[in-house]
Amino acid sequence: MYSRSQQLFSRAQQSIPGGVNSPVRAFKQVGGTPLFIKKAKGAYLYDEDGNQYIDYIASWGPMILGHAYEPIVEAIREKVYDSTSYGAPTELEIEMAELIKSMVPNVDLIRMVSSGTEACMSAIRLARGYTGRNKIIKFEGCYHGHADSFLVKAGSGVATFNIQTVPGVTAGVSADTLTCAYNDLAAVQQLVEANKGEVAAIIVEPVAGNMGCILPQPGFLEGIRSLCDAEGIVFIFDEVMTGFRLAPGGAQEKLGINADLVTYGKVIGAGMPVGAFGGKRAIMECIAPLGNVYQAGTLSGNPVAMIAGFTLLNELKAKPEIFAQLEEKTAYLHKGLDEVLSASNVEYSINRLGSMISVHFGKHAVVDFSTAAACNIEQFKTYFHHMLRSGIYLPPSAYESWFLNNALSYEDLDKTIQATNAFVS
Ligand SMILES: *Cc1c(COP(=O)(O)O)cnc(C)c1O
Repeated sequence: MYSRSQQLFSRAQQSIPGGVNSPVRAFKQVGGTPLFIKKAKGAYLYDEDGNQYIDYIASWGPMILGHAYEPIVEAIREKVYDSTSYGAPTELEIEMAELIKSMVPNVDLIRMVSSGTEACMSAIRLARGYTGRNKIIKFEGCYHGHADSFLVKAGSGVATFNIQTVPGVTAGVSADTLTCAYNDLAAVQQLVEANKGEVAAIIVEPVAGNMGCILPQPGFLEGIRSLCDAEGIVFIFDEVMTGFRLAPGGAQEKLGINADLVTYGKVIGAGMPVGAFGGKRAIMECIAPLGNVYQAGTLSGNPVAMIAGFTLLNELKAKPEIFAQLEEKTAYLHKGLDEVLSASNVEYSINRLGSMISVHFGKHAVVDFSTAAACNIEQFKTYFHHMLRSGIYLPPSAYESWFLNNALSYEDLDKTIQATNAFVS
């Protein structure tokens, strides 16, 4: 069933570290051979052995309308003939910035980059430059890309592989990154008090997606917002996962809380390498060439990447019912999974907001990294492989959110619920 993927994985390991270009793809937590994908269309992935899968990763979020979405494919095809890059400004970049501002009203200025990592790394540098302070606060299990400052108690692959300290990140850098538990407002207040006048920024995933899906408890983000206002700290929403997924205006709109700076990735590029950071004018004006906080990129605002993201965001803006449809589908899946799991003797909890959802095997509510880590990873492994054999491709780690795409049919969701039922019965 996986023979060609197995061959390709052996071959890949001869010339690519671990056979993959990003660690979680290696299936290390769940075991087995990663699938080598040949193509995808709509809600389905096709591997090199010709197997078809219902896709719950959606390239970790970007393919929100499904794979090879016709208007995006066409827009790229048309654009690419004009050259793949100029290294000079284009009108399309203005249109992209204007479109983002129209969807996210509190973004005054926005700078395009090429990944979520770059967006978060730049936002932190900017917050430090703006405030003249060094320290940042992040939350255990939150992932903000692989820049040095963020690899302290990080989520996603860092958690999946149980890496405690990352070799290569200097103690000096780590010392400026303070951490506390997600949803623990009192701990944030204490950290700020103990480091008075030294904290430049608090960065958070407004809905966490890199330790499974974890919702902010009422008052958590609101409390940080007031604290940041009182202490002159820059509040950064890392919306790389949630941006343009939870609502046209992302988590800010969905939760009704404004950040000072926002970072984007994933959906913003429709599957092309795109990230962005933006926010309040007074802060964004510190970025070069307006200010001295240096940040640059040879391929930033790349025309082919921009037309892909622009076409997708335009579609999302023109048809806001897409968000309601996605949410209905995810709620339907939630209800179906809940029914079959509650009828079994499996201990579980399901977290969901909008089109982000995750199933945790354990009897406790999952509200932060330690409760996520206390779940039964072995059971997740068997569940993952059972689902894969049933033609359903879940994220290959218990520490990742599932991402629904709007090409999924109710029949696909029913199949997913039935396969879960077969797993527990
Ligand atoms: C994926 C992710 C990043 C990193 O984005 P890359 O494009 O992989 O560099 C940062 N923050 C969050 C919340 C993410 O989910």
